[in-house]
Amino acid sequence: MIRRMSGLPKVHTGGCLCGAVRYEVRGPLRDVVNCYCTMCQRLHGACGAHSKAAKADITFIEGRGLKWYASSDRARRGFCGTCGSSLFWEPVDQPGTGILAGTLDQPTGLRTIGHIFVGEKCDFTEIAGDAPQFAGSSEGAIQDDVL
Ligand SMILES: [Zn+2]
Ligand SMILES: [Zn+2]
Repeated sequence: MIRRMSGLPKVHTGGCLCGAVRYEVRGPLRDVVNCYCTMCQRLHGACGAHSKAAKADITFIEGRGLKWYASSDRARRGFCGTCGSSLFWEPVDQPGTGILAGTLDQPTGLRTIGHIFVGEKCDFTEIAGDAPQFAGSSEGAIQDDVL
């Protein structure tokens, strides 16, 4: 069981490349899980580095660029319609929203705690570090403490 979250009681902010989407998170963030699934490959170029927060803790300072794409019948992806930045992964049946960790303003205080769907990773992708790797989902081994 891997339980890990940022304990820093701060307000995190983030946004897209062009500024048409800016958000803030008033609540804890989960540490980062890298996803190597085939959908993340198309969206992010190789893998997606996901943090996560409670939906209710995320508010938009600037939302004029925000668009949603239903990538499957169980989740939608939030992105900026102006610059194309990928920002969110939001499952329809859970209280949390995945946040693409690279869109958070630095420093985040987060660390990488796992790698999922490594069985689908690109043939050129190399994974470094000691964080556990899972061929598919973590099957609950990585807990979302923030939710
Ligand atoms: Zn943008
Ligand atoms: Zn993925």
